[in-house]
Amino acid sequence: STFEELNLSPELLKGVYVEMKFEKPSKIQAISLPMILNPPFKDLIAQAHNGSGKTTCFTLGMLSRVDPKLKAPQALCICPTRELAIQNLEVLRKMGKYTGITSECGVPMDHIPIHQRPPIMAQVVIGTLGTIKSWMSAKKLGVSFLKILVFDEADHMLAEDGFKGESLYIMENIKKLCSHCQVLLFSATFNDIVKNFTSMVVNDDHNQLF
Ligand code: AMP
Repeated sequence: STFEELNLSPELLKGVYVEMKFEKPSKIQAISLPMILNPPFKDLIAQAHNGSGKTTCFTLGMLSRVDPKLKAPQALCICPTRELAIQNLEVLRKMGKYTGITSECGVPMDHIPIHQRPPIMAQVVIGTLGTIKSWMSAKKLGVSFLKILVFDEADHMLAEDGFKGESLYIMENIKKLCSHCQVLLFSATFNDIVKNFTSMVVNDDHNQLF
């Protein structure tokens, strides 16, 4: 298959070819992108290891769902570590170079206290669970216009020490979000903890890639 077949905007296609220098979709991209990019935008659970090309799947998903005219967070990607969040943001900015879509990274060690910051206006937000939670609870991250929510490396996120303490608040918020938001969940492994989490955040009627 080819990237042309995926109905990507000319700006995104240019990002894929000129910036990323990808020639054709990897296996996971060829299978999942038609599901991610097209109505009815069903939720997706995918077992994916590093190197499979999963980042492109959710990056194109996020970039293609954002309405460039609407200046509000529309896509959110939650990552287990600050390093992964920064790396995913770099990929998103590169791939989305010609789209004009704005993005921001939410990671620990931001030097400005959250209460002193203006609300987040970026259209795509990528960050760690802890920082996303504190932005949400400080009412600095609006979720009313969210269309797509991504969990990258869910198994690693669920193994984090702080997760249990932070999960309750996030879960309540996410459940509200998930009613009108496409959820994509990527994980290398699906143990009972990941399965349990998945059943809470993903719609019963979803696509599965194992
Ligand atoms: P990921 O599994 O998303 O971390 O991607 C692993 C590596 O494969 C990254 O260095 C990507 O830049 C590269 N990659 C992803 N998709 C493609 C593709 N369709 N063609 C060539 N390289 C790719």
